[in-house]
Amino acid sequence: DPATELTRRGAVMAAAQEKYYERPPQIERGWRDLLIDTRGRSYVDMVNNVAVIGHSHPRFTRAVSDQLALLNTNSRFLYSALADLCERIVEKSPDPSLDTVLLVNSGSEAVDLALRLARIHTGRGNVVALREGYHGWTMASDAVSTSAFDNPYAAASRPGWVHIADVPNAYRGTHRGAGAAAEYAADLARLLDDPSGPGVDLAAFISEPVLGNAGGIVPPAGYLSRVYEHIRARGGLCIADEVQVGYGRLGSHFWGSAQQGVVPDIITVAKAMGNGYPLGAVLTRRDIAESLAREGNFFSSAGGSPVSCVAGLAVLDVIRDEALQQNADAVGRHLAGRLAELAARHPMIGKVHGMGLYQGVELVRDRDTREPATSETAAICERMLELGVIVQPASERQNVLKIKPPLCLSRESADFFVDRLDEVLQ
Ligand code: PMP
Repeated sequence: DPATELTRRGAVMAAAQEKYYERPPQIERGWRDLLIDTRGRSYVDMVNNVAVIGHSHPRFTRAVSDQLALLNTNSRFLYSALADLCERIVEKSPDPSLDTVLLVNSGSEAVDLALRLARIHTGRGNVVALREGYHGWTMASDAVSTSAFDNPYAAASRPGWVHIADVPNAYRGTHRGAGAAAEYAADLARLLDDPSGPGVDLAAFISEPVLGNAGGIVPPAGYLSRVYEHIRARGGLCIADEVQVGYGRLGSHFWGSAQQGVVPDIITVAKAMGNGYPLGAVLTRRDIAESLAREGNFFSSAGGSPVSCVAGLAVLDVIRDEALQQNADAVGRHLAGRLAELAARHPMIGKVHGMGLYQGVELVRDRDTREPATSETAAICERMLELGVIVQPASERQNVLKIKPPLCLSRESADFFVDRLDEVLQ
């Protein structure tokens, strides 16, 4: 039972190990966009942005288990699944210039490698990242993360090569008007040009193209293209962390950077790629990838293994054959429409951020002051769980209900979520 599991974990695991809710449900199995607990109760899953093609997809399960039964080894051998997967990722590339793939096992590793590539390629050290971003738990990816996990200790131990710019949040940030995109970009340019700032020895700028960890915030139109210009004018590379928002989740575009109208120099991807099987990648330009040779060869024991490649291929096949990006677009629009309806009736909804199957319902105590409804958001999530929906708070203020379900989310499940939210807000 859940209480016993919590005690067992506590005895042998670190207290910092995160969990959903004070008492998470004990999940036994998943099916499409549903999770089913040990008592047989099912929940609409609004949090699992990894299981993009849905839980326990038969085609995926079969492909992975067949390959596992046959062979799993490493990329120093030849097997066609490796080139097959890299070719398929390059086919999905947002621009012909991004034509080279490096395979790893997670988002943190992809970000770590992207930062390393940028520093080796440019021969420079500084990296600019956005406040309220999260890019991973390894030393380098953690160093460029300042999200809710930030605290005075973490800030003090951040290495000198990391420089933090303001998050371009036009709902509650410093710039909120029509000129927000230009104003935030100008702030970043000023940071670059500060004599003690990152502009001289600039290696890279890293951000999510749509700001997932800030609560699903879509940067004001034109912000990212201006920032990329400022970075490139000073010889830096632009890294788009697509671990959360890429791979069809936004519905209208496969990549968040394409949605924002920019072409990065390096893209990181993970989560969705393996539908739960550990798999991540860096997609970049040939000349940037070749810089790695200056430091030696690249090898990851399990990165690009036959099983992970087969998993990655099955995910891309299912996304294509079941039109999941189109589903994210259609169900995402339906959801946005219904949430707008809800916002018209419930003043607690300050703003609905995002698009496709990546949306954030920002809850406030007062629409004018925009005071975050933090404790209320936690209580709402607890109540939603009782009613059969798994949804969690996000953002630095933990007042955004983040919607990031499997991309096979049905219209019925979307309606179930909105109806329960309506009930709880009432
Ligand atoms: N980048 C982003 C944008 C993420 O959201 C995450 C995970 N939440 C990561 C990187 C790290 O990925 P992983 O947990 O697979 O290491």
